[in-house]
Amino acid sequence: MIGITDYGAYIPRLRLNRMAIYENMGWFAPAIVMVAQGERSMCNWDEDAITMAVTASKECLTQYKKEQVDGLMLASTTFPFADRQNAGILSTALNLRADIMTADFTSSQKAGTNALLAAIESVKSGERGSVMVSATDKRETKPAYFHEMWFGDGAVAFLIGNKDVIAEFKGSYSVSYDFIDHYRGALKRYDYNWEERWVRDEGYSKIIPEAVNGLLTKLNITMADVDKLVYPCFFKAEHKKIAKKLGAEPEKVADNLHEVCGDTGCAHPMLMMTAALDDAKPGDRILMASFGQGCSAFYFVVTENILNLKPRDKFKKTLENKETIDKYPKFLEFKDLIQPDMGIRAEAPTQTALTTLWRRRKMILGLVGGKCTQCQTPQFPKTDVCVNPHCRARHTQEDYEFADTPAKIKTFTGDLLAVSVDPPHTYGMIQFEGGGRFMADFTDCKLDELKVGLPVYMVFRKRTEDKNRGFVNYFWKAAPVPGAAEEMKKVRFDGQVAVITGAGGGLGRIYALELAKRGASVVVNDLGSARDGSGEGSATPAQQVVDEIKEFGGQAVANYDNVATPEGGENIIQTAVDTFGRVDIVINNAGILRDKSFVKMAPEHWQAVQAVHLNGAYNVTRPAFKVMREQKFGRIIMTTSGAGLYGNFGQSNYSSAKMALIGLMNTLRIEGQKYNINVNTIAPLAGSRLTEDIMPPDIFEKMKPEFVSPLVLYLASEACNQSGKIFNAGMGYYNRAAILTSPGIQIGDAQNPPTPEQVSENIDKINDMGGAEIYDDANAALFGLVSPPQPKKESAGGEEAGGSGMSVKDVFDRMPETFNPDAAKGVDVVFQYTISGSDGGDWTVTVKNGACEVAPGKAEKPTCTLKMADGDFLDMISGKLDPMKAFTSGKLKIDGDVMKSQLIGKLFSL
Ligand code: NAD
Repeated sequence: MIGITDYGAYIPRLRLNRMAIYENMGWFAPAIVMVAQGERSMCNWDEDAITMAVTASKECLTQYKKEQVDGLMLASTTFPFADRQNAGILSTALNLRADIMTADFTSSQKAGTNALLAAIESVKSGERGSVMVSATDKRETKPAYFHEMWFGDGAVAFLIGNKDVIAEFKGSYSVSYDFIDHYRGALKRYDYNWEERWVRDEGYSKIIPEAVNGLLTKLNITMADVDKLVYPCFFKAEHKKIAKKLGAEPEKVADNLHEVCGDTGCAHPMLMMTAALDDAKPGDRILMASFGQGCSAFYFVVTENILNLKPRDKFKKTLENKETIDKYPKFLEFKDLIQPDMGIRAEAPTQTALTTLWRRRKMILGLVGGKCTQCQTPQFPKTDVCVNPHCRARHTQEDYEFADTPAKIKTFTGDLLAVSVDPPHTYGMIQFEGGGRFMADFTDCKLDELKVGLPVYMVFRKRTEDKNRGFVNYFWKAAPVPGAAEEMKKVRFDGQVAVITGAGGGLGRIYALELAKRGASVVVNDLGSARDGSGEGSATPAQQVVDEIKEFGGQAVANYDNVATPEGGENIIQTAVDTFGRVDIVINNAGILRDKSFVKMAPEHWQAVQAVHLNGAYNVTRPAFKVMREQKFGRIIMTTSGAGLYGNFGQSNYSSAKMALIGLMNTLRIEGQKYNINVNTIAPLAGSRLTEDIMPPDIFEKMKPEFVSPLVLYLASEACNQSGKIFNAGMGYYNRAAILTSPGIQIGDAQNPPTPEQVSENIDKINDMGGAEIYDDANAALFGLVSPPQPKKESAGGEEAGGSGMSVKDVFDRMPETFNPDAAKGVDVVFQYTISGSDGGDWTVTVKNGACEVAPGKAEKPTCTLKMADGDFLDMISGKLDPMKAFTSGKLKIDGDVMKSQLIGKLFSL
């Protein structure tokens, strides 16, 4: 059996919204609006027919190994080289064997299917076992011409073989005519088209049916034996008419892809077929035909093997990986239709030494490095001496391919000074899985999408172009793995350990399940007592939650200790350390109720509730805090209640214990700050056994604990930058509660105490919460008391009332607190800040010998001077203004060593 054994598709990530063409050029060519639907694919500035073919062909090697490929046929009408075999570049980039046959097919839209036919016949002859065929086109178009609307860029690859065939080749039929619907003269840049109606009537609608009917007759079958009919035709109405003429029902006809990418030239019929293969079932019969100086029609039957081809979303995947742009001038620039000035640096010579390219072809075109046969260390480039300092063996390296090796970003930068068609030029260090790293250019991304740790994959791209000599330099670049940035933003707890008290039911159980689902190892603590804390206790609730977690593959251990005793707290934390080795998260959640009106509140009611809620949080958090300080990381969550924050009849014991937890949080926030330990408090509202007899049944039903857990998980995450905050959460509603202090007033002259009568007279002013503040700690509150009253602010809440509430001076006063000495090793810099405006001034920040000093005034010899207006500066500090944008927009001016200014973000966590 001979046929297709694998396939690959590639549509460039960039798509131009066709309306952007019309909006820019409709005044000149109003008729183009007729075809302005959807978007057309467009190459990035560093892509061409060859680079697209490399990506499509790499996708085509999921079943066969590249060593098994015996021939390579490449088709295009837009080859970058007229006399240098383009298939040879593709073969070297794919690192195929040297003893294979390579060939270029060109000068017709039928070139792709011609190459396919040649590959099939080559395998059929028995001469070759497996031949790769790739078709690719990036056609040049004049602005505002129909071609600009119709065409798209893209590539496709099929592997033809005689083993593991996924679509068996049953036969083909070709007709050849010198029918010139369009042509491109040698050395001409653009296609010349003849009149549309004639092309439709005499061309597409006669030639395609002739070939298709010829094939049906040859194979003695009818249209009833065809499940999918694939043929190109960018005239939408004509595309439908051809099917009608052939007697094919509309649902059999493959979409011509006009809306999603446009006509990709000689790649198009095969690209359309990859869309059909993505969804094909064994037994499906596909008839594919091309068009261009005649037509070739092929008949394939899908086999059972297609079910083994994984992944099989090759067309879908490339179609979905997209960035749609509206910037028509960008399209023009990337297509070299406008030539913005690139600056003097762009004039540097780019001539390629062909001798070096030949010697280093595997390294440059194939991204082949070395791997030491003694210590197994991979490295790029391959050298005579192993890069591993503990090995240093000589002449021990064998070839090691990096092009398919997953990698992650280790460092990155956006360079506005370097020459780039799409500034800023982004590059940085990438680290390969399994070892090896190198400085790579990044492509198919924006600077603000890059992140340390972001997974990237290698793509073959144009590096530079020597336009004088007509030579393109190719190399490999790193592109973010589609969807990886979103994945990184997800709140995950892999490798982290969470302790949740009272997690045998209610809210705690949901926290435990959700944390485990997102990768945390969980200690499920629960004493298993009755609602009022009475009874012997039971292991069952905690163990049941552990079983639930293990069922979905999560990690958890049960603990049945009582939080109300110091030994119980120690044991809970010891369980975490003994089982999982660390403690990252503590959620103090265990709770009981013993409601009584105050006079009936006997000491045992009072003490039992205080013991579980307040003492419990102390008993568990204290040993955990010790571990977290050593780890320099921790997230602690207290559980308060509306009863504590606002009061509730019959709950004097509970509300006082719950409010005491706020006091505990306030101090732990301060003590934990420098160890990256964040402490926050939630006041949940959820249906549980504690609330079942308090809430009306219909509301109880809606109060799912699942609505509280998202906030708790955020507060438990590494990404959480909140500390010392109180949040209410329930039924999908979240808000913040805070302790506010009014500005108050000074009564009398501060020398002599005022009289109670004076207080009485002024009680409304004392009470007035307008301009109230949230104080950072007791000292700040004390300072607020002794300093003269501030003028009233517009609304309550320091932070909420107009930005950060800080002055420029406050920022510099607090700058030493945000200094990160670990990042200052070996750094010796003096930053001079000159802030204009009424709130401005001069400050000097000196970083030397791992220490930082901030002083008012100008520096004698600053490394660099940063100049900004006071408002912009405060916006930048509060995160409202991106520093890079401030710089590029001129809001931030930097004199001196601009590169050193980039250290500020690392040295200070402003
Ligand atoms: P719940 O009764 O379902 O859960 C509390 C769990 O704590 C129980 O499984 C219980 O066995 C366990 N527990 C009690 N004493 C313990 C001890 N000494 N040691 C270990 N475990 C012990 O109640 P819930 O509603 O899920 O409450 C969770 C927390 O949220 C409590 O602190 C509660 O006060 C608080 N809270 C809940 C609501 C709400 O609307 N459900 C409102 C405000 C505050």
